[in-house]
Amino acid sequence: MPEEQEQRHVPADVERRLLVEAGHRCAIPTCQAPGPLELHHILPWARVKRHEVVHMIVLCANCHARADKGDIDIKSLYRYKERLRRLDAQVIQQPTFGELVTFPGTPALILGSNRFEGCPNVLVVNGKPMVQAAVEDGRILLSARVYDRQGKVVAVLDRNEWRVNPNNIFRAEAEPDRVRVVDQYGELALDACANDDGSVTVNGTFFVSGMKIVATDEGLMFNAL
Ligand SMILES: [Zn+2]
Repeated sequence: MPEEQEQRHVPADVERRLLVEAGHRCAIPTCQAPGPLELHHILPWARVKRHEVVHMIVLCANCHARADKGDIDIKSLYRYKERLRRLDAQVIQQPTFGELVTFPGTPALILGSNRFEGCPNVLVVNGKPMVQAAVEDGRILLSARVYDRQGKVVAVLDRNEWRVNPNNIFRAEAEPDRVRVVDQYGELALDACANDDGSVTVNGTFFVSGMKIVATDEGLMFNAL
């Protein structure tokens, strides 16, 4: 292959990563044509002469022609790419907390602004505790089992220490009175905070029985998946 042609050839793994990122469809959300699919350099090839996943996107032939003409500009294409990244995070990586909360020895639990007293098991779904917090010597110790959508455990946090956490997908940031679990994109997955009155406040996103439950200071929100 002549050098120029060889350089223009997109390596198979780059092509595969882009296609998977786009779900093998055109990356323009209102198009999503299944084909014919082409690989587009968001930054013009003539300028960069490199095949980098972060600067490339999958488009159908129609959208590709529009991008080449400038009908779909560079900033928009990066936004569409960002959207795919977030979608990917949701589908593959977002922690799915299968069961909610038990708090042994904690006088009260505040979950999504609702206060539960004298009720050690709150919203337990399948018998196994999914998130537990204990306050010992003013220090909060958080345990959590992180599930994927198929119900498989993907990470286990045991009293602020990771027992299972492949590729360090999650990070636990522990302060004496607060533990935050953050995913690899820096998004907050779980936030447990010990209050002065001995209660514990927990916020986060949980996936239970086809339902997404978001607990925030504003309340509990239930959404069908
Ligand atoms: Zn398209």
